[in-house]
Amino acid sequence: MHEISVLKQAVDLAEQTAMDNGVTRIAYITLEVGELTGYLPVFFHKYFPVVTENKPIFEGTELHIISDAGEALCKDCEAMYNVMRCEGVCPVCGSRRKEILGGQDFLLKEIGICPEGMNNE
Ligand SMILES: [Zn+2]
Repeated sequence: MHEISVLKQAVDLAEQTAMDNGVTRIAYITLEVGELTGYLPVFFHKYFPVVTENKPIFEGTELHIISDAGEALCKDCEAMYNVMRCEGVCPVCGSRRKEILGGQDFLLKEIGICPEGMNNE
């Protein structure tokens, strides 16, 4: 249930950024969700209408989510592997000692703007 609070933060950031740039309508926002954050994209889709309610700038806005793979580098044999798929264990040597290389971040990657959403006055 942490999804709703991080989603709200991303929506607020997108709204603020859009307003700072004179944008009145957002076509889409893209969130990058790391596999290792534990956030489930299905909840972002579920809560998006809730957190954007009463925000006209988000009327008709699409939510795009891209997943960032949870990659790790084995500290014993230097193999690279996917942490989720291998359950945190190096598939080559069986070691659990690793350096996480990605998949830990949640970020607002992109804000898409409707051409007619620009206020050029
Ligand atoms: Zn290894």
